[in-house]
Amino acid sequence: MIGYGEYLLLSEAPMFKRRYAVDGDVVLGCTIGCQFCYYRMIDSTAPYIGTGRLRRLATPEEFAESVAGSKLVSERSLVIMGARGDASMYPSEIPKVLDAAEKLGVKAKFLALRRAAYDKTVREHLASYTQLYYGTTITPKAAETGTPVQEELQLRGLRHAADFSDRVSVEVGPITPNNIAAVRDVLTTLKDMGWESAIYRGVSVGSWGIDRRTVVEKLLKMGFLTPEQAKEALSSPEYFYGVKNNLDAALERAVLNMFEEVGLKAYRHTGQFYAENWGVPIALTRRNKVRRDVLDFAKKAQYPGKDLRRQLEHLGYEDAEIEWSHELGVKTAYVRTKTPITEDVAMYLGEVTGVAVIASNYLPSPDGEALKHYLKHDFFGMPERTKRSIMERLK
Ligand code: SF4
Repeated sequence: MIGYGEYLLLSEAPMFKRRYAVDGDVVLGCTIGCQFCYYRMIDSTAPYIGTGRLRRLATPEEFAESVAGSKLVSERSLVIMGARGDASMYPSEIPKVLDAAEKLGVKAKFLALRRAAYDKTVREHLASYTQLYYGTTITPKAAETGTPVQEELQLRGLRHAADFSDRVSVEVGPITPNNIAAVRDVLTTLKDMGWESAIYRGVSVGSWGIDRRTVVEKLLKMGFLTPEQAKEALSSPEYFYGVKNNLDAALERAVLNMFEEVGLKAYRHTGQFYAENWGVPIALTRRNKVRRDVLDFAKKAQYPGKDLRRQLEHLGYEDAEIEWSHELGVKTAYVRTKTPITEDVAMYLGEVTGVAVIASNYLPSPDGEALKHYLKHDFFGMPERTKRSIMERLK
């Protein structure tokens, strides 16, 4: 089943997915417990969201070793801590990950995602580690939208990181018809504090192993989803996400007007922000198509320019046939392989080669067979016990 491989990684491995950044966690789960948290909608992560329970996936040293051993992490990658949880669950372990990674010669950048208000610890981390970035999400009308983390506290907390604003990303969202009126105040405060840009986000809803109708009905009742979004989420054939970062056109226009009036630069997607501000060389494709909306941003990052064929061989695709062309003015490689090229692989190849990779045998997310290829070639490094456990479930 498509997605089953990703589901097993998501349930057990320190790093489980890569898009423009690599998603990872030292600890799975989050005690904050936002009602709209996507990880409430996956059966293997739901028990760890808002219940007080947390699950260790790796020690800080093991996490660093996983990054060092992962073939889908390059010297230019951005590795997230707090993808299925919040980095505030283990603040004292973040320096330990960075110290261990440095000893192992890891050159990748790390991004700690933390919704909990920033404090002196965050400031100390940013001051001590130049390879560390932080990201936070501020939800306007937090309580009414479904999170206990008040936006006023988050905005006040950001003052701790103001000197390091070039290494802090701020996302504003999820934006819904019920909280859009409060977006302007958040943006104005950010501007007054010296921030120059922010990323705005729509809503995400999905499921795996949990009845999607139950999830969607709950969020619809909360006013988190519009009836149109609910309908789309229910009818979508997509694995994991029914709607992702979804914002209706009229709301988006209103949000963009607010950014303009306040004088902040708006980013629709994190990939655009990472490329333009942090020099992360993002892939020029998404979902096996050249992605028009990242092209201008991608130009700002220098690609390592590695050889595509060598990289394919490095990842175990020795039989790859490549045809070269151009799409939307971008150097494009049409790649034919027996083993599928997944979105994770396409994102890595795009990052290190700078060419748009379009695969004839493409999967949006790994199935069980593709995951065996991942494990054989160490796509996502992981402790031996995790590898054994995943292999056992694949039998
Ligand atoms: S802070 Fe993030 S990980 Fe934690 S419950 Fe809220 S959305 Fe989920």
